[in-house]
Amino acid sequence: MNPVPVAKPVLDEREVEAVRRVILSGWVTQGPEVAAFEEEFADFVGARHACAVSNCTTALHLALRAVGVDAGDEVITVSHTFIATANAIRYCGAVPVFVDIEKGGYNIDPDLIEGAITPRTKAIICVHQLGMPCDLARIVAIAVSHGIPVIEDAACATGSEILWKGRWEKIGKPHGDIACFSFHPRKVVTTGDGGMLTTANPEYDRKFRLWRQHGMSVTDAVRHGSKQVIFESYPELGYNYRMTDMQAAVGREQLKRLPTIIAQRRKIAKQYAEQLSGRSALALPVEPTWARSNWQSFCLRLSEDLDQREVMQQLLDKGVSTRRGIMNIHLEDAYTQTGLHFVASSLRESVLAQQHSIILPLFAQMTNYDLAAVIEAVSLSVSERDLAIERAV
Ligand SMILES: *Cc1c(COP(=O)(O)O)cnc(C)c1O
Repeated sequence: MNPVPVAKPVLDEREVEAVRRVILSGWVTQGPEVAAFEEEFADFVGARHACAVSNCTTALHLALRAVGVDAGDEVITVSHTFIATANAIRYCGAVPVFVDIEKGGYNIDPDLIEGAITPRTKAIICVHQLGMPCDLARIVAIAVSHGIPVIEDAACATGSEILWKGRWEKIGKPHGDIACFSFHPRKVVTTGDGGMLTTANPEYDRKFRLWRQHGMSVTDAVRHGSKQVIFESYPELGYNYRMTDMQAAVGREQLKRLPTIIAQRRKIAKQYAEQLSGRSALALPVEPTWARSNWQSFCLRLSEDLDQREVMQQLLDKGVSTRRGIMNIHLEDAYTQTGLHFVASSLRESVLAQQHSIILPLFAQMTNYDLAAVIEAVSLSVSERDLAIERAV
């Protein structure tokens, strides 16, 4: 029997039909479907502007460029995140400045931001890691007081919510200056690969649209639709960061499913929290009173006397796949050479989180049988340890 996977995208005939419709229309690259997806996404998160791109990494790159990050600048972020967060900073020739995450959580520790600010700091990228909103109210307040723009890496946070000035709002309104989303299959909704930038700033949005299409002054859609001959020009360096209309058509179907997907994910997370609580060997993820996670991932913290790899192997032997906690970028060879990153605070919590956390299976189609299998396997693994401790006492 195949083990319970960590994640599984929700895709069926509806997405197939959507792609079929686009293919048969004869227009397959960025066009009317992308425009419709952008409008629907903006509507969903409550953003003024939404611009679709090829993935979240390219979204982060454009966001950094839009706020003016250039060679030699510094951008404050966490090491405890997927490598793309910092790679996008390096695409600008800038240097990632890493601060630690909060003790007991997986997001940036706002207390450490001020100490990392220098005259070269041009932006802060905060990450809503695992779908759990980071403390935007505090982060934005610090950033505003120093005149530094905030880019939200919301790759995992489509559909997550935050209590903002007394109202529940979607991540991506955005609450910082720009939010960047991912539609990779490992996230809650997918277009195969894909990304989205949201902002309230029309000038940023104009730049995203220019740069994603080679810096070309007019889009294909405008040229094809024109009754007059138009010659395009290239006023600035751009990229090919377009989303295709086939991807966007899938995205529109996924967006329709999103509320159901998130409701289901929240139900599963609640079951995990109820069934796995009260065990000394485990610390459950904490949802602050001002946050509602989409539960893109459910991350369990193991007590330090448990061996992460051993627990993961025991679970796999019992038919349950897991992944280890989020990586630390500063430990990877691509970053260890001097000058490629700065460390502004001890990264102790980031390293401990990587070494002692495991990500449990969580996907909307999980059956009660899958859920029971995971809970039983985890319970067995840690109860052996609890028994050993009782015997020792
Ligand atoms: C997945 C992820 C990304 C990269 O997204 P892509 O769409 O694959 O480029 C960036 N940041 C975080 C935190 C992620 O989890």
